Amino acid sequence: MKVNQLNTLIFKNPSQDDINKAAELLRAGKLVVFPTETVYGLGASALDETAAARIYAAKGRPSDNPLIIHLAKANDASKYADISPCYEKLADLFMPGPLTVVLPKKDCIPFSVTGGLDTVAVRVPSHPIAHKLLEAASIPIAAPSANRSGRPSCTTAEHVIEDMNGMVDAILDGGESDLGLESTILLPRGDKEVVLLRPGAITIEMLTENGFEVTLDKAVTEKPKENEKPLAPGMKYRHYAPKAQMILLDGTLDDIAEFMRQYPDDPSVAFLCYDELKSKTGNKKIINLGSVSDPLLQAHNLFHALRCVDQDDSIKTVYAPLPDQENIGLALYNRLLKAAGYTVKKL
Ligand code: AMP
Ligand code: MG
Repeated sequence: MKVNQLNTLIFKNPSQDDINKAAELLRAGKLVVFPTETVYGLGASALDETAAARIYAAKGRPSDNPLIIHLAKANDASKYADISPCYEKLADLFMPGPLTVVLPKKDCIPFSVTGGLDTVAVRVPSHPIAHKLLEAASIPIAAPSANRSGRPSCTTAEHVIEDMNGMVDAILDGGESDLGLESTILLPRGDKEVVLLRPGAITIEMLTENGFEVTLDKAVTEKPKENEKPLAPGMKYRHYAPKAQMILLDGTLDDIAEFMRQYPDDPSVAFLCYDELKSKTGNKKIINLGSVSDPLLQAHNLFHALRCVDQDDSIKTVYAPLPDQENIGLALYNRLLKAAGYTVKKL
């Protein structure tokens, strides 16, 4: 249920003046949604307990699900967290960019931001509007994805308006998010060892190429057991799930084509579908993910596709291909598994 109704200011293609106004709002403890290269973020001062509490209320987010703090420069992290040689190496390689690193927090970051944990997750976005906003605000900005809790993350300002109009003080509309999936989250365990808590566009392959040893947190690919606490608390929550029952198809492209061909045409059933399968679908309802050979485009399209499913009330079941786990495929695999509540049909 939506609570307080605010008069949300919307700045389309914001000028530096608009960004300065938004930065002032953040400094005054208000909520501002801003675009990043991953997904839209719902920001508030990370130094202000009340502001942080407003994020949880606006999203309907459980209070034990911690927030990522966003900084203008990787070097700023030492003001808010204990940094390490591992952090510095990751920052040199991948910041600014779609990477979040979990570090021991300093006292200035309230526990309400970290869901009670003594660590804080730090990210330096590369999106020019996010960067200008962080520079102008000159405070760390706590910002989860700007969707209502449980819904797909927002990759356009229209999605944000759907979920958050009247719940936030301002929205900076910077068009479509470039990547479309949330950041990779890493927990450093030594100089070169990291645990992958959430896969994203900084992939295992990119990390190992640069000499890191990566352990995959099992919550990335397996359903957490009841009462189990994953290292990233957010991974235990139902996420991205459309209202329709979602089922993932585990098989080759040919297997999926055959499955679709044999499936009776039924307006209550939709398929998230690669370009290569479109001609095989008869009169089926399809929502396009892009080419099977372009997982970056699939990542860009996924959350929009899931929102399209929700917009058609007649869809009761949606099938989607289970992607390969290589490179950014692992991030797609993880988000789809969560969206489907881990329901997979072997073909
Ligand atoms: P979102 O902001 O919606 O992309 O979600 C942020 C994700 O980061 C959630 O899965 C959180 O559980 C995770 N996260 C944030 N802070 C920490 C932390 N200190 N330790 C582990 N995971 C974290
Ligand atoms: Mg989120």
